[in-house]
Amino acid sequence: MQLPIDIDSVKGFLAADEGEALFRYASEVAPLGPCLEVGSYCGKSTVYLGQACREFGSQLYAVDHHRGSEEHQQGEEYHDPSLFDAEHQQMDSFRAFRNTLRRADLESFVVPVVSDSATAAKYWSTPLAMVFIDGGHSMEAAMADYRSWAGHIRQGGILAIHDLFPDPAAGGQAPITIYRLALASGLYSEIEVVNTLGLLRRIG
Ligand code: SAH
Ligand code: MG
Repeated sequence: MQLPIDIDSVKGFLAADEGEALFRYASEVAPLGPCLEVGSYCGKSTVYLGQACREFGSQLYAVDHHRGSEEHQQGEEYHDPSLFDAEHQQMDSFRAFRNTLRRADLESFVVPVVSDSATAAKYWSTPLAMVFIDGGHSMEAAMADYRSWAGHIRQGGILAIHDLFPDPAAGGQAPITIYRLALASGLYSEIEVVNTLGLLRRIG
């Protein structure tokens, strides 16, 4: 795997082994159709997925309202003042995201969807090869992402969910809750868990 830019130059919340797994599975299922991620932030996961789409003839839809999750807001643990729009008093990672796409020369392979995830999904009907869920971590947000997008994954496609913490003391439980829901549905089989990234195959 060769990335178009130094991935450490992109702000974000994704470990290298997780990014490599995203690249690997997106590459594998690219012939099934486009991929979609929920939660792009400054584009770290986007570069891995987008590069796989470029190399293997697919396209990535990158959904993010770019207003940040709960933990990115002012006064919260992961707030980054350089991504704060002082004039409008809100987070705005879209500028940084676009800059990443331009630097990585991925603008022809990644379609930014600047929107709340559920709103973007409302009239969506395109079958997807892979869905990567890495958006809001409230139970409400994670459930909405799962309900909005999982149903669009084609048979043989991939559902990837970030931030799985089996130990509740280690992290929030919303992502692993939707991961378990997906498994319990009988529509997915477990492939592997890489660091905190869960990978499921759509079988039904
Ligand atoms: N995948 C990124 C990290 C994503 S952080 C990386 O590789 O670094 C989570 C992102 O989800 C934030 O940018 C936030 O704006 C976005 N987000 C949170 N809730 C959302 C929602 N309901 N709809 C769309 N985007 C959302
Ligand atoms: Mg995450």
